[in-house]
Amino acid sequence: MSEERSLNFIEEIIENDLNSGKYETLITRFPPEPNGYLHIGHAKAICLNFGLTQKYGGYTNLRFDDTNPVTEKTEYVDSQQADIKWLGFQWKNELYTSDYFDTLYDFAVQLIEQGLAYVDHSSAEEIAQLKGTPTEPGTDSPYRSRSVAENLDLFTRMKAGEFGDGVCTLRAKADMASPNMIMRDPVIYRIKHADHHRTGSKWCIYPMYDFAHGQSDSIETITHSICTLEYVSHRELYDWFIEKLGIFPSHQYEFARLNLTYTVMSKRKLLQLVNENTVSGWNDPRMPTISGLRRRGYTPASIREFCERIGIAKRENLIELSLLEFCIREDLNKTASRVMAVLDPIKMVISNYPAGQTEILIGENNPDVEANAGTREIPFSSELWIEREDFMEEPAKKWFRLAPGAMVRLKHAYIVKCDSFVKDEEGNVTEIHCSYIPESKSGEDTSGINVKGTIHWVSTAAAKTAEIRVYDRLFTVEAPDSEEGDFKDYLNPNSMKVIKQAYIEPYLANADINARYQFIRKGYYCLDTDSTPENLVFNQTVGLKDAWAKGNK
Ligand code: ATP
Ligand code: MG
Repeated sequence: MSEERSLNFIEEIIENDLNSGKYETLITRFPPEPNGYLHIGHAKAICLNFGLTQKYGGYTNLRFDDTNPVTEKTEYVDSQQADIKWLGFQWKNELYTSDYFDTLYDFAVQLIEQGLAYVDHSSAEEIAQLKGTPTEPGTDSPYRSRSVAENLDLFTRMKAGEFGDGVCTLRAKADMASPNMIMRDPVIYRIKHADHHRTGSKWCIYPMYDFAHGQSDSIETITHSICTLEYVSHRELYDWFIEKLGIFPSHQYEFARLNLTYTVMSKRKLLQLVNENTVSGWNDPRMPTISGLRRRGYTPASIREFCERIGIAKRENLIELSLLEFCIREDLNKTASRVMAVLDPIKMVISNYPAGQTEILIGENNPDVEANAGTREIPFSSELWIEREDFMEEPAKKWFRLAPGAMVRLKHAYIVKCDSFVKDEEGNVTEIHCSYIPESKSGEDTSGINVKGTIHWVSTAAAKTAEIRVYDRLFTVEAPDSEEGDFKDYLNPNSMKVIKQAYIEPYLANADINARYQFIRKGYYCLDTDSTPENLVFNQTVGLKDAWAKGNK
């Protein structure tokens, strides 16, 4: 984990509230709308809400904010729960805003009885027209002066399904002259004849977010209701409802949402990518979703560490994707087994090594950590696959890898010298012929020869094949949301490269879906969920290059 850090502003507020005795128990909630899969932005809110009650005691509820029957699905409820658990958090109560529909209805009736809500038969356009502007007060709706009795009657009939969608709404009678536009008689109930994923056809009127959220917080006696900055202007209304209804005073606090470069983060936009088959699904390894990151090979610890490092800000900002990559690289560096895989193969023949002979070498799985990560057997033979880019026919200056007459060490094995090479008719190098130095075996080298380069390899006889998927950023620009035109105009056409036939050490034939590997000199990889024992498929989680640390550490 990160070094000690000072308190963020929400922690300061909470420490004050607990020390002053304002609250005995801290209660937070994470309130996703089940209208898509959770993304890394949600991870930030999850780590914050659950992290606070881990630190200060109390508990966190999981509340599905399911007030919009059209977009919500049980599939999303299930995936959201799985993702929160995978991140390492456990909620105290699983709750649904829809469980409060009766209570919320009663709250609406109470407001009507207090003369603080009215049924409006204006259309959405008319309501918008009469709203005024931030500098000019709005105009009262002609329905604003309806009597309590009339409003009660109409609202009951709205509930009973007497009116079609959009015919009328219930509005709070707040303040049509408020400088805060949100306070200008907000709509609090709308008619929507649609089945709900939990309440079925019971309701045809649904509460708006502003009417549901604060009251749900209050019902659950949430002490600190944390949301993102877009809701700053809603806070006044949040407090207004609680005050007028005389219910438990939850309070809302806002922090800056996470924005990440080269991606989009709204569920609605991510859903578009899924529906239009731009990606293979919500868990496509290029998606910023938690399920996509998981499939890509990210660990819960790396995501929690990322959220910790970016901290909690009061102002919008854009975080570098490379910071997220830095976090996974740091984590995998400690835990991933080092193995060898050749992604762009070319054959090496060792002329003085007995053909047909196999020698078993021992490789340490992770020599970079102190804890013993074990060893594995690596078969060596006279024919190997090496990486095409490790040979240069006419070597550049300071080239320490293979070239005619040059020597390199084969990782875990011997030093070899390139004697000659073979080209096909088109001039492509097809084979490299080498001789090896028998006294140069790794760990017992008595050859006295010093070479600067070490390359990886796989024995052709023992190699297994695998498909390898290498990913790049999903978009070509840092902030596709703020560019001109549609965000999809900025999709990176080369965001996925598939290597159909790479060669991997036989050890990887038994790769575990939960294991992470460093293909040495290449990057970090894990099995993909498409993988089968017959057709192994690996994802590149992240390359080895550490761009963020270099520039920003
Ligand atoms: P989206 O547009 O992606 O669906 P949302 O805010 O509508 O986002 P919700 O399901 O309503 O999604 O969000 C649940 C919680 O997660 C809210 O408290 C919200 O503030 C928080 N959240 C959503 N996106 C981010 C983000 N990018 N950074 C931090 N918190 C976020
Ligand atoms: Mg939302």
